[in-house]
Amino acid sequence: MSLLVVGSVALDTVRTPFGERQDALGGSATFASVAASFFTDVRLVGVIGDDFDPAHVELLRSHAIDLEGLERAPGRTFRWSGVYGHDLNERTTLDTQLNVFAAFDPRLPPRYAASEYVFLANVDPEVQLRVLEQIDRPRFVALDTMNFWIEGKPEPLRRILTRVDALLLNDSEARMLAGTGNLLRAAAAIRALGPQVLVIKRGEYGAVLFARDEVFSAPGFLLEEVFDPTGAGDTFAGGFMGYLAARGELSSAALRRAVIFGSALASFAVESFSVDRVHTLTHQEIAARFRAFQALTRFEDADLRGGR
Ligand code: AMP
Repeated sequence: MSLLVVGSVALDTVRTPFGERQDALGGSATFASVAASFFTDVRLVGVIGDDFDPAHVELLRSHAIDLEGLERAPGRTFRWSGVYGHDLNERTTLDTQLNVFAAFDPRLPPRYAASEYVFLANVDPEVQLRVLEQIDRPRFVALDTMNFWIEGKPEPLRRILTRVDALLLNDSEARMLAGTGNLLRAAAAIRALGPQVLVIKRGEYGAVLFARDEVFSAPGFLLEEVFDPTGAGDTFAGGFMGYLAARGELSSAALRRAVIFGSALASFAVESFSVDRVHTLTHQEIAARFRAFQALTRFEDADLRGGR
């Protein structure tokens, strides 16, 4: 089944201890769509300005992403810039310029109304709501957001939370949204707002899934070189949702595998700036990393009575 993604398509300026890149292809919808394209057909809803490099559009096209929902508007493309210190889990946003997103009123191509799997990637929650309203009967809707919107648009965010099946966000955002420091309590408080499936991303330490009455914890993949963490969260979400849409099933086993595919894709994303590494991925590389995650967490049963 195909996956509809709405979110930002951006030009990112990023500085890490290892280098700097200006006006790189970024945005939540970009990272998520490219990642999901390894699993299923993707429809992208977003907006770009007249300064957007046609080569970036070609890159998206090369992943067979359906761009009928990508609008081109007069003005400048959404821009974000951030800087990372040696602790790559910590980033400082230097600037967020909404530009063409400020007036974006998404009009979905009519055939998108039948979309069953929907990922509302990080963007203004009012835009996310307007997209959701144009979809007839979605089967599984997941949402991502960030501190910028938790603080800036709390009411629309609360409204949309009542209408989604899943929420993905990082641990500091979960604490901010729930107003409590303990992750288990934060998870319970967030699920009480609507989403029954919750994935809390913990940067290099992995991710935790809360679904039904189960908790599943995926480790972070240990890499010798982490170059730029930008987009890791969106790439995770793209792998997670892309796998679920392809699988067409929402069992606990499928949700757990989706977390591992999301983690695998994200572990590639951080190896380079922008979508550079994920763009060149092969299915064999993804499968090998999936198995490496399995090996990382497999352990045998113990004779607990004997303590051995
Ligand atoms: P991540 O590292 O997965 O949290 O996402 C980074 C991406 O989010 C960058 O490519 C940015 O362009 C995009 N981004 C940053 N701030 C915002 C925002 N307020 N709304 C939408 N997208 C954003």
